[in-house]
Amino acid sequence: MALHGRRVESPSSINTYKQCPRKYYYQYVEKLPTGTSIHLIRGGVVHKALEDFFEADLSDPVTHDYRFLHARLQSLFRKYWLRNEERLSSLGLAPEELDQYRDESVVMLQAWFSRFKARMQKRVEKRGVSFPEAFAHLKPRREEEYLSEEFMVRGFIDAIHELDGKVVVLDYKTSKNGYITPEYKLQLAIYALLYEERHGVRPDFVGIDFLKSVEQVLKVDEELLNQAKFELEQIHASTSSEGIDDYPLRPGPLCKWRTGQCDYYDLCFGGVSVEEFRKRKR
Ligand code: SF4
Repeated sequence: MALHGRRVESPSSINTYKQCPRKYYYQYVEKLPTGTSIHLIRGGVVHKALEDFFEADLSDPVTHDYRFLHARLQSLFRKYWLRNEERLSSLGLAPEELDQYRDESVVMLQAWFSRFKARMQKRVEKRGVSFPEAFAHLKPRREEEYLSEEFMVRGFIDAIHELDGKVVVLDYKTSKNGYITPEYKLQLAIYALLYEERHGVRPDFVGIDFLKSVEQVLKVDEELLNQAKFELEQIHASTSSEGIDDYPLRPGPLCKWRTGQCDYYDLCFGGVSVEEFRKRKR
């Protein structure tokens, strides 16, 4: 999407450009389709389960039980996993491999739930609030879309907590590493900028909830917001051209790896033209 001649960027388009300008060109200038992967599908399923989890109806006292909440989360996961069965089998993975990803995701959600439960218990026990009140306090705003016409950037924020006078903006990650990489930091800086622009106040913290293990947050300060502004200026300046030659190839480990290859590998190294590529994907 382009507004006033500039493309609307996103944390992922910027990170794609940084990895390989040619990949950015194929994906965002030519708008060639991308493939899917187990990580994308699994991420979507887990995000959807977490999003719906907070819709729990706790009006009946029988539901005031952590086992009820845990069972709800796992059953939402199963529901969305089954709904994606066709896409999952189209990946061509061995059934045992798919089972392994499914089981790993169940464990990941268990780990997330244990941390959530500990927070709820703390509120119930230390602050004397009821079970449904503690749940409502910890319920974030979810999957909110932010679009800035000034900075020409869009983001979908997984969870916004406004709790005890503090605003914490979180992104859920299913990846293993429990630390904030430069790519993640840029994503969070952009979220902070988008939040501040819309609400007129700066979030206190932005962070990544590594679902398997830990939540890592960064304090939002002027430096973080300036980083987002700087990176956005850079990307708009670097991507104003529509000519392929302005987007050099950056061959590296992301071209081909043990179990797969870049969506555009055949365009770069297999002599396939953009037109042929489009035809194949129709
Ligand atoms: S195959 Fe390699 S060089 Fe080509 S677009 Fe993908 S990452 Fe870039």
